[in-house]
Amino acid sequence: MRLAVAREIEVGERRVALIPDTVARLVKKGIEVWVEAGAGESSFFTDTDYETAGAKIVTDTDALWHEADVLLKVGIPKEREDGRLEVDLLREGAVLISFLNPLGEPAIAQRLAQRQVTALSMEMIPRTTRAQSMDALSSQASIAGYKAVLIAAAALPKYFPMLTTAAGTIAPAKVFIMGAGVAGLQAIATARRLGAVVEAFDIRPAVKEEVQSLGAKFVEVQLNEDTVADGGYAKEVSEAAKQRTQEVVAEHIKQSDVVITTAQVPGKKAPILVTEEMVAQMKPGSVVVDIAAEQGGNCACTKPGKDVQYNGVTIIGPINLPSSMPVHASQLYAKNLFSLVQLLIKDSNLDVNFADDIVSAACITHAGEIRNQRVKEALA
Ligand code: NAD
Repeated sequence: MRLAVAREIEVGERRVALIPDTVARLVKKGIEVWVEAGAGESSFFTDTDYETAGAKIVTDTDALWHEADVLLKVGIPKEREDGRLEVDLLREGAVLISFLNPLGEPAIAQRLAQRQVTALSMEMIPRTTRAQSMDALSSQASIAGYKAVLIAAAALPKYFPMLTTAAGTIAPAKVFIMGAGVAGLQAIATARRLGAVVEAFDIRPAVKEEVQSLGAKFVEVQLNEDTVADGGYAKEVSEAAKQRTQEVVAEHIKQSDVVITTAQVPGKKAPILVTEEMVAQMKPGSVVVDIAAEQGGNCACTKPGKDVQYNGVTIIGPINLPSSMPVHASQLYAKNLFSLVQLLIKDSNLDVNFADDIVSAACITHAGEIRNQRVKEALA
């Protein structure tokens, strides 16, 4: 079985699908690993590191894609400089494993099915205990939560911690985290480590205890409706619930020095949690970091990839935060892939076993068909 690691061509993508350490583990299992020349360069892993780990370095991109049994990537396959699509370089029957955003950009699934590619989407790995080691959404979201706080701290014209000095006492920064999923919880922990006073809000009441155990205060809003969908994800809430939420959170936003928004609903545009009026109420010098910027943003003033000034408030809409920490982002993602690849190997050969619930849930296309009902619905 031949496994290939492609060099990412998306501008700004610095991660790589496998790091040399994971390559060595796969080679030990009798798997042939090809790595495209320069694939690890942006995350500081050299071709020599991969070679030492037992990989073959391949300079011919077409050959790497065409001769792979399993092609590993980080981001959605793209159009190359020569105008050809990366997916069209795969041969029929090959397996592609990557983040594929099949609910947001379902056309990719159609193309992969046409190409008779068996595609496993890392977003579709179930959030179950058995699949934890493969949960790339979590490993990358945690980085995003951590980095968002560092960005906020750097942009805030104030200290985060309380300081008692000979020159006077500094009050700690007030940080409000909106959305307490994986990214939000890591943001809470990071802001607490920096000494801020932290509050958090989520429409899933189940996160209250986790928020409190990290030393933050949970802001409660009584919503008289079910807010949790299958798999523990948040549901899109009614207009009445949105209104009720806004009334409660407005006061907390107004009092905060930093607001970090992380709220997402799978397959939908991110909900607006911070309106323009709320930003207008914030103190000049305050900072909003909107991790959901790529999904449209949780703040009405967010511009993805840009820093916006509004009445003295800075609204930052970072793109691809995990890529800004490519060493650990790649290390964790490689471990996620390694765990998943192990489910696809039997006696050193490729064996895509749909009886396995993780493989079945992650696989979006196989043998010319789109297998996932939600992806089919997204295409309709
Ligand atoms: P996510 O990135 O989809 O969303 C981030 C957070 O935003 C979530 O906590 C969500 O509830 C919240 N949110 C959505 N709409 C909101 C709104 N209008 N207002 C406020 N908050 C809003 O979430 P995630 O971090 O990917 O986690 C999704 C689910 O998966 C959670 O239930 C989480 O506990 C679960 N999970 C389970 C495992 C596991 O068991 N192995 C691992 C990771 C995550």
